[in-house]
Amino acid sequence: MQFDDVYVMTIGGKPVAVGATFDVVNPATEAVIAQAPDADRGQLDAAVDAARAAFPQWAATPIDERRAALNRLGDAILENIDGFKRLLTAEQGKPHGDAEMEIGGAGMWLKGAATLELPVTINEDSAERYSETRHVPIGVVGAIAPWNFPMILAMFKVGPALLAGNTMVLKPSPFTPLTTLKFGELAAEILPPGVLNVITGGDALGPWMTEHPGIDKVSFTGSTATGRRVMQSASATLKRVTLELGGNDPAIVMPDVDIEKVAEELFWAAFRNNGQICIATKRMYVHEDIYEPLTAAIVAYAKTVKVGDGAEQGTRIGPINNKPQYDRVLDLIRDARKNGYRFLLGGEPSDVPGYFVPITILDNPPEASRIVQEEQFGPVLPLLKFGDLDEVIARSNATEYGLGGSVWSKDEDRAVAIAARIASGTVWINETQHLTPMAAFGGMKQSGLGVEGGVEGLLEYTNAQTIVRRRLAS
Ligand code: NAD
Repeated sequence: MQFDDVYVMTIGGKPVAVGATFDVVNPATEAVIAQAPDADRGQLDAAVDAARAAFPQWAATPIDERRAALNRLGDAILENIDGFKRLLTAEQGKPHGDAEMEIGGAGMWLKGAATLELPVTINEDSAERYSETRHVPIGVVGAIAPWNFPMILAMFKVGPALLAGNTMVLKPSPFTPLTTLKFGELAAEILPPGVLNVITGGDALGPWMTEHPGIDKVSFTGSTATGRRVMQSASATLKRVTLELGGNDPAIVMPDVDIEKVAEELFWAAFRNNGQICIATKRMYVHEDIYEPLTAAIVAYAKTVKVGDGAEQGTRIGPINNKPQYDRVLDLIRDARKNGYRFLLGGEPSDVPGYFVPITILDNPPEASRIVQEEQFGPVLPLLKFGDLDEVIARSNATEYGLGGSVWSKDEDRAVAIAARIASGTVWINETQHLTPMAAFGGMKQSGLGVEGGVEGLLEYTNAQTIVRRRLAS
């Protein structure tokens, strides 16, 4: 695999270069590092046509052959981890170590998803009748991915969709198109032509996909605001949708934790990937008995963490990925300052090039403040004090979001009981963000619709088909 600076789309198994391109910027330097193809409607049609043409044969391919192909694709990603990692850091901003984890995770995700089984339910097996329900592929999946984890979040879709027998048109975010374009080239060496098509473009391309009559299902990961638009647009042709959307995850930290041990883990729960994780801890509720020492320990640890260009050795946190998100995070900081909230750390953006925001920690801002109520998706964490358990659970749940959450306590049974009262798709105990291809992951409330991962996620790429056979008298 060549990691040169030529970026092409993959349509029908062939590289497709187009005249129109758009700039891709390295967020650590603000330099333009590449040109990505800017697809027009004709190229989208070509990608959809290629996926439709490939569908019957791929759907009829025995599932074990599809498994084997996904395994080979996963291995191919792992064999090219170094090239992918450097490219991911350049376009996304995350440090090389994190980029390597994402690419490794992407390869492993495909291999893990490839082991899933499609269930068959026998509804009746009597003298009169045999009835079974099985799960058949839907057709062409339009997959739309965000910029925070461009590779692994694309694989959340590629693995189960292709295993179930669908074909795909995959579109990355215009802020991070490069790794996905190279992945498309890699896939063309392994999959039959048209099974996986990768296209890139500007803001118009996503809406063209969600309204396209040749796409049967949209699998979308992105913000809740865009998710609403996707659902509305998909309704015209009654496309199936899976929506993985935003979150405002609470962490509830009970007074019995080992402060020194959890301070570092809690820090990374909020600041990993520069806070740009749908399931980052975005509100940290700390019991009043340990609020002062735990706060001090988190701030002390935060001061040891190097923020900088992800390509430099020692960097643990890179820049914000893109200018609109950088401006949004700075706006939240400005709002906190204007309202007189207390900063324990950070808050002063530097004027070096790059979309760098310092690690910023706020001391118990009001519950109604924007930084508590909104999804910050950046390195700004409100630490919040609580005394009463019922009250903190009510505060945790008082949001339109319901994606993740965590409970931290030495008393695991009590933590499980608390977790069960949090209205979100996943609740972790004494950790966060652990995901696997074998477990369902998705949002409650306005954090999404449907799930990815596990058999439940695999079934989202299928239609249930019940075949009822009346037994003829012998
Ligand atoms: P976004 O909604 O701006 O964009 C996501 C993707 O949708 C991009 O590819 C974009 O080009 C495309 N898009 C934009 N407008 C569209 C439209 N009208 N129709 C169809 N497609 C359109 O999100 P983002 O800023 O890239 O990502 C950050 C958000 O994603 C955060 O809210 C985060 O919480 C969420 N997210 C959720 C998960 C999850 O699994 N639940 C995972 C990662 C990120």
